Amino acid sequence: MEKPAIAGGKPVRDTYLPYGHQYVDQADVEAVAEVLRSDWLTTGPKVGAYEEALATRAGSRFAVAVNSGTAALHAAVFAAEVGPGDEVITTPMTFAASANCILYQGGRPVFADVQPDSLNIDPGAVEAAITLRTKAIIAVDYAGQPADLDELRQIVQRYGLVLIEDAAHALGATYYGKPVGSISELTTFSTHPVKPITTGEGGVVTTDSDHLARKMRQFRNHGITTEHHQRDQMVTWVYEMTALGYNYRLSDLNCALGLSQLGKLDVFLKRRREIAARYSSSLGALPALTLPGLRPHRESAWHLYVVQLNLECLRADRQQIFAALRAENIGVNVHYIPVYWHPYYRDLGYQRGLCPAAESVYERILTLPIHPAMSDRDVDDVIEAVAKVVEFYSA
Ligand SMILES: *Cc1c(COP(=O)(O)O)cnc(C)c1O
Repeated sequence: MEKPAIAGGKPVRDTYLPYGHQYVDQADVEAVAEVLRSDWLTTGPKVGAYEEALATRAGSRFAVAVNSGTAALHAAVFAAEVGPGDEVITTPMTFAASANCILYQGGRPVFADVQPDSLNIDPGAVEAAITLRTKAIIAVDYAGQPADLDELRQIVQRYGLVLIEDAAHALGATYYGKPVGSISELTTFSTHPVKPITTGEGGVVTTDSDHLARKMRQFRNHGITTEHHQRDQMVTWVYEMTALGYNYRLSDLNCALGLSQLGKLDVFLKRRREIAARYSSSLGALPALTLPGLRPHRESAWHLYVVQLNLECLRADRQQIFAALRAENIGVNVHYIPVYWHPYYRDLGYQRGLCPAAESVYERILTLPIHPAMSDRDVDDVIEAVAKVVEFYSA
């Protein structure tokens, strides 16, 4: 048996392979440079063009671009009219922003447990958490696989709630053949560099509601009813601020990059699916691993490839396996620490034990590198390193 690097052996790779990375080409560089030479660096023509292209891709009537996925969530929670005293049900198995956005509007996050296979929010747990104060549900399409959206839609209809889908991982995913972005009342995306496409920083909300889209356009611009270029066209300086908004605008530089990246989304998705298929066929034979739990009628965008360690088969815990793979120069990661375990949430009174499935799975999960810039050699390195480390620690 080959010695792992952590035990003094030679690492599988000389260079570090991150779990996620942007793919930027010459066309992207030129698209951004063109904006730099134009009159509009922000609130110009690229914003609307990007929004239109994104709405078309996501199958929605409207897309509202903002400057982060977190701002997209904030805008969605604002549009859903979440306010002080309102409860919003969400998952603990996510990045903190999915819950923080509720706090921004004075609402109270209520955590519902996940399905142990898909790690998506469990509709049964959601229904059990509904009270008279519940206003909305924020479901996350974990790792790029759509949540149980039909079941969640039935719940919001039955109880008169709003469904917000945090699809930060899931641009390009489908559910019963329909694109993510066309299903929930409000769907949010992130275009951070590790996400399916990038604008540097950025986010977007899709909706079929003219009313909600207008509200969010205002929200991203201080709560002002008109945009700068509209006032130019109307020959007036007058504008009105009618709600408390923020500066969440996405610049034309970012939008030009987004437009260019969107043209490559299908190529990116294809490569992510190829890598996932290679992992699944090569790692499936290892008894110490459980592969990602896939549910029928949906195609994942494969933002993350998350395995679960069968700790009964190992002489090591997740921390040791993690450290051993990092020593091989494989940028494994963990998605996610249950949100309410963070000290800020603990101080708000959330206690451990709230979501047992999420907490138990948290001890076992490990994210393997997956992104479109990975070569076949990179993929083989991951497979080799995982097999080596898991074999070394096998009980
Ligand atoms: C990345 C991410 C966000 C936040 O997006 P930013 O663009 O980084 O603000 C929100 N929710 C989830 C699930 C994410 O992965």
